[in-house]
Amino acid sequence: MAKRDYYEVLGLDRNASPEEIKKAYRQMALKYHPDRNPDDKDAEDKFKEAAEAYEVLSDADKRVRYDRYGHQGVTSDFGAGGFQWTHFSHMGDFDDILGSFFGRSGTIFGDLFGTARTGRRAGPQRGSDLQVKVQLTLEEIAKGLQRTISLKRLEGCETCHGSGAKPGSGQKTCPVCRGTGEVRQVSQSFFGSVINVAVCAQCRGEGKVIEQPCPTCRGEGRVQKSVTLNVRIPAGVSSGNYIPLREQGNVGPRGGPPGDVIVLIEEEEHPHFDRHGNDIVYELPISFSQAALGDAMEVPTLTGKVKLHIPPGTQPGKVFRMRGKGIPHLNGYGNGDQLVKVIVWTPTNLGEREKKLFRELATLEGGKAPAADKSFFERLKEALG
Ligand SMILES: [Zn+2]
Ligand SMILES: [Zn+2]
Repeated sequence: MAKRDYYEVLGLDRNASPEEIKKAYRQMALKYHPDRNPDDKDAEDKFKEAAEAYEVLSDADKRVRYDRYGHQGVTSDFGAGGFQWTHFSHMGDFDDILGSFFGRSGTIFGDLFGTARTGRRAGPQRGSDLQVKVQLTLEEIAKGLQRTISLKRLEGCETCHGSGAKPGSGQKTCPVCRGTGEVRQVSQSFFGSVINVAVCAQCRGEGKVIEQPCPTCRGEGRVQKSVTLNVRIPAGVSSGNYIPLREQGNVGPRGGPPGDVIVLIEEEEHPHFDRHGNDIVYELPISFSQAALGDAMEVPTLTGKVKLHIPPGTQPGKVFRMRGKGIPHLNGYGNGDQLVKVIVWTPTNLGEREKKLFRELATLEGGKAPAADKSFFERLKEALG
């Protein structure tokens, strides 16, 4: 495709003023912006063509060469591959137009402009978050509690008041990035030249460097301290839940705002209870005679012992539901239940008198063993009922 005349591309006369050129480019960029023309290759080409025309005509020196020699006069500015976005020097001038596709990933423009760009500004960095694990028993989870946690975190240095500069010395503009906090690197990709915008390593994106580091914090502006914090843990939490304590984490270097403390909940395994959601399962061992004759028993719950009536003829595996004796629902009303599963304990090492009684019992039972008149599944249904 033959290159179109740059004035024609922008719809201008050859004697257009710089303001008219800028205005014309702005209109073109808006019209052919990829956000307005998704998946339109022609619009995309026109968008880039307008940028190329503007890049030349907005520069007095390039414009003179172009006027005199045509495209030949400016080819050396763009190299063998022709005009690429990396040559475009007005990215910042049209942030309202161009800005919307900076940092987009997964599209051709994400690749064109480099996915490293995140839109961050030069300035103090936020401090990092700290994670603290808190182990809780089921009893604690059932009640909710206040817990004191101890941790080490980075706090502002008192010598330099967080600036990182030796008292009496100051800051200067970073010589590497000239205060922008960013460095641009050009590399080649399938789509042509790619600008990778990276955080400046010299000033770590702050745009400024200190002249002389503070002797206490060696220029960091922060020092490690041990602190204790209080955290309120509501009833009903479970493993994997976390509670953020906003702005209680490490402060950022040289006056950067603090991160958070993340309190991560870990539930300890309970010796007697199994948690299923907000229900608690407890296995209750009872004897043959208790199962046969029934009994009033004391059953442990998360909030103390509770009486449970075992009716006569209770089958092994029978489950009793104690309503509301489970874990409170987090952010809601009411509690789960406690499920009590009956385990019938078969005695071992019988004494002579016990053996005698069991034999007597066996004689009395005679032919009416339960298996003789009921199927296994009928008895199972009863047990679960
Ligand atoms: Zn200091
Ligand atoms: Zn820098």
